[in-house]
Amino acid sequence: MTTPRFDVVVVGGGIVGLATAHAVARTGRSVAVVEREPRLAAHQTGNNSNVVHSGLYYAPGGHKARLAVAGCAETVAFCRTHDLPCEVTGKLVVATEPDELPRLAELKRRGDANGVESHELDEAGMHAHEPHVRGLRALFVPSTGVTDYRAIAEKIGELVQKDGGEIHLGRAVRSVVRRRADVVVRTDGGDLLGTQVVVCAGLRCDELARASGADPGVRIIPFRGEYSGFGERAAGLVKGLIYPVPDPAFPFLGVHATRGIDGSVHAGPNAVLALAREGYSWGVVKPRELLGSLAYPGMLRLARQHWRYGLGEMHRSLSREAMVRRIQRLLPDVRADDLHPAGAGVRAQAVRADGSLVDDFLFAAQGCDNRSGGSGAVLHVLNAPSPAATAALPIGREILETLTGERLGPL
Ligand SMILES: Cc1cc2nc3c(=O)[nH]c(=O)nc-3n(C[C@H](O)[C@H](O)[C@H](O)COP(=O)(O)OP(=O)(O)OC[C@H]3O[C@@H](n4cnc5c(N)ncnc54)[C@H](O)[C@@H]3O)c2cc1C
Repeated sequence: MTTPRFDVVVVGGGIVGLATAHAVARTGRSVAVVEREPRLAAHQTGNNSNVVHSGLYYAPGGHKARLAVAGCAETVAFCRTHDLPCEVTGKLVVATEPDELPRLAELKRRGDANGVESHELDEAGMHAHEPHVRGLRALFVPSTGVTDYRAIAEKIGELVQKDGGEIHLGRAVRSVVRRRADVVVRTDGGDLLGTQVVVCAGLRCDELARASGADPGVRIIPFRGEYSGFGERAAGLVKGLIYPVPDPAFPFLGVHATRGIDGSVHAGPNAVLALAREGYSWGVVKPRELLGSLAYPGMLRLARQHWRYGLGEMHRSLSREAMVRRIQRLLPDVRADDLHPAGAGVRAQAVRADGSLVDDFLFAAQGCDNRSGGSGAVLHVLNAPSPAATAALPIGREILETLTGERLGPL
């Protein structure tokens, strides 16, 4: 039997892999997506806050800032074109303590530099948007919205197939092996050949890079983010999206209250070390993966630096009272008995050996110098945390351009 051959093989059926395959398929190249789970969007893409981020937070000039701003508008347009759920509600970022005011002002500056519209509000102004919120000052960001990223990913998958692309589910990739003119993708269901390969394996991207002989230079540390659903009474306290001012030491945005696209309200996510790469609860423990996280020099340094923050997050994970106190900083009328567990997602966060968290998106390309027309090139996506769901469509086009030199516009 001959080995199936494609111009591009994409590893990972999350939104980044699918958006990449979509860009490739639009150019008429043959493409296959290989996903180890039996369905698309089984991990980060299908278990997140479903917020369409505006691009407010990110350091001007970085990948995140540029791609989030483009992705915000494109995600909304994509949903409108394909009749998918999406609502542009706007959001409040609320400073509750005086020491947060300079950080709120810095967010305003970043937003301005990134071209994101935002409005500074005093208490009365914020109450006009969210009558039950408590705070000193706030920023209102009109372009933020909510959607359903699983539905978006599934639609992108449909479009890939419509353009002739293949999607192979339930097939785990073991390694990608570069040869001179192509790449062998070794899977547990047999090999595939790609002239070029893109690895978008989320929580397992570093593992796959190492198995393929590439040094990722980072390790993925899985950070679980747990959500608390609001009962009917408390849900009435939230109209749209209410965020705290984030701690600049971390790339996480802090526990926020969100009215989702289905009308239900949840708060979260916190950030606790997951005990397995796909550790969606405290009960999911994979000793080898946990040891791998704990023994990584970067994790030890991170823990030494931020143990107090880590313990606080763990406490809030294990105690509903502690979690409610965090939410009450923004919404004082929420009570512990208003909250119920509402699922979790696990972030694939790249950490360097010196203990620093990789803040921006991180791509590592091998053989993309175009001297060989990109043949035999492999591109590893090594850090695609939030807002990569928002930014996925432009990320996919940018990866295509890195591989082939071909530039596409939005659809
Ligand atoms: C709690 C949480 C909240 C978030 N909130 C938001 C938000 O509101 N807005 C936003 O824009 N972003 C948000 N994000 C970030 C967003 O979800 C991610 O940036 C985005 O989903 C990344 O997509 P991905 O395709 O890289 O990863 P994933 O969706 O994780 O996809 C990777 C895929 O690779 C597959 N895979 C892994 N190993 C292999 C292998 N060996 N062979 C084959 N397949 C493999 C996995 O099964 C998986 O399906 C959030 C993330 C989390 C966890």
